[in-house]
Amino acid sequence: MRFFHRTKPKSAPISGRPARILAKPDGMKRRKFQNSNFFSTPQRKCRQLLTLMHPAKPHMLNVVPPTGNRPIRKAGAAFMRLFQKKTWMVLLTGLAAFCLCTLGGYALSYKKSVPAQPRGAVVPIIMYHEVKTSKFHKLAVSQAELASDLAWLRREGYTTVTMQNLIRYTHGEEDLPPKPIVLTFDDGYLNNYAYAFPVLKQYGDKAVLSIIAKNTDDFTRVPDQNMNYAHMTWNQVREVQDAGVFEIQNHTYDLHAMGKKRFGCKKLPGESLEAYTRVLTEDLTRCQDEITAQTGATPTTFTYPYGNVSKESLPIIRAMGFQASLSCDYGINVLPRDTESLFVLKRVSRFHNVSLQKTLAKALKTLK
Ligand SMILES: [Zn+2]
Repeated sequence: MRFFHRTKPKSAPISGRPARILAKPDGMKRRKFQNSNFFSTPQRKCRQLLTLMHPAKPHMLNVVPPTGNRPIRKAGAAFMRLFQKKTWMVLLTGLAAFCLCTLGGYALSYKKSVPAQPRGAVVPIIMYHEVKTSKFHKLAVSQAELASDLAWLRREGYTTVTMQNLIRYTHGEEDLPPKPIVLTFDDGYLNNYAYAFPVLKQYGDKAVLSIIAKNTDDFTRVPDQNMNYAHMTWNQVREVQDAGVFEIQNHTYDLHAMGKKRFGCKKLPGESLEAYTRVLTEDLTRCQDEITAQTGATPTTFTYPYGNVSKESLPIIRAMGFQASLSCDYGINVLPRDTESLFVLKRVSRFHNVSLQKTLAKALKTLK
């Protein structure tokens, strides 16, 4: 009957399902949609049907892939596309470059981690001046600080050596201990005798004492017990030397001054080389002679006052027979077995309130 006739839909359903199913709205609840009989058909036909419903955006219906892992499948497909386009050569080149960079990085980091071996013995020379029990200042450490330094050196395996040890080492006459260190005390203050000498003796350590011979003369003539300015007498100098604690060295006879005269033993501007040679030779010779006469030992080392080194002084010092000289240039010495390496040696000042451990750690960084 015509009344009951149902017209054929313009687009026939793919699986023979009624056309009304195609009318399911976009906003339909997913749970409801999934639970309907519509999804009871085979998955392949379902996908075809959904494509017809939403040809541009089938994913909006949250279609679950039939089988397999989607990211892996995508990656595999992408790789195959690249391979087909022969971009695999580009990939291989990139991989090779990555490997080379990684290996190069490892090689560089390995090289950095292996420190360069110093060409010679590493010999720090520490510079002290006054050692006191009160009225400390930058160049006046406390007796307790010196004792603490010596205890730390012992714990760290350092061995105190003298200039004579260094000279014999450069001549190939002896070896240095594994961790040699030189402790120097400048000027010859009485407080060195009173406070440094007993502590050094207690720890069994040696040190270098560079004296200003005129001051020793003056305080021998007029003894003074003031620990803030007095210097040792010749008797005291002999005592610390004979005890095997201090090695006495030359710090000029009377050129340890700054003011209207020259600054230390530096050459004056406009002074002739002859005049400078005469002044320096006479002063240092007088000091040498007095020390030799008073102690029986001739100094081997000249210690520049204030670390003021004139280049003109170097041949003069050598000609006088000195085998080493101490400056105030900051740093750590690396000494080959070469006698020339002992001239203008670097030193590190140990200041009040800065431990030797800290002082040395900072100075050793200059070697890297
Ligand atoms: Zn000095």
